[in-house]
Order: sequence, then C-alpha cells, then structure tokens
Amino acid sequence: MLRAYVGMGSNLGDRIGNLGAALSALDATPGVAIAAVSSTYESEPWGVEDQPAFANLVVGLDVDIDAHQLLEACQRIESDLGRVAGVRYGPRAIDLDILLFGNAQIGTTALTVPHPRLLERDFVVTPLLEIAPGVLLPDGTPVTVDSAIEGRVTRRLAPAPD
Ligand code: AMP
Repeated sequence: MLRAYVGMGSNLGDRIGNLGAALSALDATPGVAIAAVSSTYESEPWGVEDQPAFANLVVGLDVDIDAHQLLEACQRIESDLGRVAGVRYGPRAIDLDILLFGNAQIGTTALTVPHPRLLERDFVVTPLLEIAPGVLLPDGTPVTVDSAIEGRVTRRLAPAPD
C-alpha cells in the first residue's frame, strides 16, 4: 500500500457537491481508501481566465492499485460526474489530477507523475501542504508556496470534512 495525492477542481454547477461526489466515488473504488481530505479552497481561474472561479481540494489516498489503474478510476469519475445533464459533450464539472504516487516517477504517454505543474499551482500546493506538511517530491524537492503563482487561492470555502 502506498500514499497517493489527487488534486480536484470544479468550476461548474454545484462545485462543492461535485467535489463531494468525486470523493465518494474515489472511496468506493476497489483498492482505494481516503486517508485525508484538505479544506476546500476557492481559486482564481487560470489558462482561460474568462470563466468562473474554481473550488479545489486535495485528497490523500491509501492505494493498492497501480498508478495507471488510479488514472483510469479518475477518468471514469470525470466522465461519470462531469457531464452537464442533457449535453453529451458538455463542459466537465470536475477535473482530477494525480499529483504524487508514493515516490514514483512516471513518464508514459498517459501519465506524468509527479504532476508536471504541481509546484506552480497555488490551488494544488496550498491544499496539499494542509494535509501533507513538509511533503517532498521524489527527487527531494520540497513543496512550498514560493513558486505557486498560478491559480491563486483567494479564500477557504469549506473546512476539511471530519
Ligand atoms: P486534463 O484534460 O487536463 O484533465 O488532462 C487529462 C490528460 O492528462 C489525460 O489524457 C491524462 O492521460 C493526462 N495526464 C498526464 N499526467 C496526468 C496526471 N498526473 N494526472 C492526471 N492526468 C494526467
């Protein structure tokens, strides 16, 4: 068993409800158990800036499946939850990224771990440090807010669940 961290974001519909549904679906995945959940933060949109603010959290998982199986689970959850009712190829309401997978360094066509933009994203770094203070990348690089200039966190929307 090892510890993985997954970052989630939603900027469509019931953002907090979408995050909660994705957490439930992850926890219901065989070989995956939720170990820690951060508070939910609101963050500024990035990339395409003319869109609603995001709600983000990071979840720590105890996993007994491999990284590609976890990616498949995340993609299934995105497609199950992410469609706007009635719009077949509508916008996704939920995005799941594998941030860290134990100490693995993975570079396949489907999966890059650690997530390549982890350190630049405040909406990832801030919730990750809340549940994993002092966490290091596999190469020993500390995760800090210093380089996290994209997707700034603006406020805490909801406390971490019990
Ligand atoms: P996005 O549309 O931003 O959610 O990107 C999804 C794509 O990123 C998928 O095709 C994944 O195979 C790929 N990907 C690469 N590395 C990761 C990662 N660490 N976590 C999630 N998806 C990843």
